[in-house]
Order: sequence, then structure tokens, then C-alpha cells
Amino acid sequence: MPVWIDLFRFCEEGRSQDGECLVRDLPRLGGETAELSAPVRWQAAGRVETLAGVYDEQGAPRRRRALYLAAQTQLTRECDRCGQPMQVPIDLRSRLEVFDTEDEADEAAMEAADDDFDPIVGARKFDLLAQMEEEILLGLPAGVVHEVCPKPVGAGSRTPKSVAAEATSGPTPQEDPVAGEGRTVRPFAQLDALLKAGAAQTGRKSKK
Ligand SMILES: [Zn+2]
Repeated sequence: MPVWIDLFRFCEEGRSQDGECLVRDLPRLGGETAELSAPVRWQAAGRVETLAGVYDEQGAPRRRRALYLAAQTQLTRECDRCGQPMQVPIDLRSRLEVFDTEDEADEAAMEAADDDFDPIVGARKFDLLAQMEEEILLGLPAGVVHEVCPKPVGAGSRTPKSVAAEATSGPTPQEDPVAGEGRTVRPFAQLDALLKAGAAQTGRKSKK
């Protein structure tokens, strides 16, 4: 379900556009979720921006086309610890700089001091929604875990992982006679996993 725009004019005329679709309309994103009927709301805006303190050979301020993208949706993914489904909210905010050719984009990327710099090559026929999907996919965390995993449904579904997770809310080590060496449960294991997931998500773009 492409949304075609002339990306150069979109930026140069300062246009904006928004829409809503379903996760199933974005086939690659659909592969990342169990719930294909979740809505995806998206917004896009084009701008021409003047780069602060950068001038061309004629002394005119250097200008760049920028595409701002935002999208909100919810994915249903499998928890890496207990294997049960969990909701992962997605809130994309992206700023891309638009170049005429691959060479110009590469050159600008080499000059850029900024980790946030994201160049793309524009087109007169450009699929806005495919770019949105690409940005969402690039920002997805590698793995997700529940803040607190739900209790296993039955004894048959108990795995070493889910038993370990359950134990964090079970008896404290003081009350538990088997506590001691060999116990690997750490109360902050969940937090560590969350932080790692967060770092993986933001690592690509910046060190804000
Ligand atoms: Zn879980």
C-alpha cells in the first residue's frame, strides 16, 4: 500500500501529510508482530532548512531538504524470557536529510559530525510509507521482556527461564532454605534486560 509523493517538492514546498493504516499493510513490519490489525498512525513533514554557519562558494547559507517522520503503533511480540505475548509501543520520530544522489548522500554523511545525521536519496516518485516502515524497523529493539512476566499458565509450561523469573517475586533468599550458591536469580536482571533493549533501540541513532 504505497503512498507516493514527489519528495523534492514535498520538502521544497513545506508540505505535510498524515494517515492511518494497519500493521498488515506494512508487510515487513507485519513479520515482527502477532497482531496484524493494530492501527499505525503516521505523520510526515517536508522542510528546507538552513544549516547554521555553513556557506557555499558564493557565500550563501547552505540549505538542506529534510523529511520529518513520526509514527505510532503497537506491536505484539514474544517476551524473550517467558515466551508469552507482550505489547511493545512504537513511537517513531525521525529526521532524514534528502539528497539528489547516492554520492551526495555519502559525501554529506562523511562530513557530518553529528551522530543523528540520517541521509536518504530522494525521488520524484517516493514511497513515503515504505520509508516510514524502514525507519520503524531500524528502531526496533532486538529483544523485549516483560517488566514483570505473567505467571506460567500451568506446570507443563514451566521452563527454567520462567521459573527463574517467577522466583524474583517468590520467597526472599532469607526465607528460602535452598537459597545460596548456584542460585542465579538477580532482582535487577529484568532491569538490565530492559536497559539493554533500550540501548539497542537507541544505539543506532545517537548518544543523546
Ligand atoms: Zn515475559
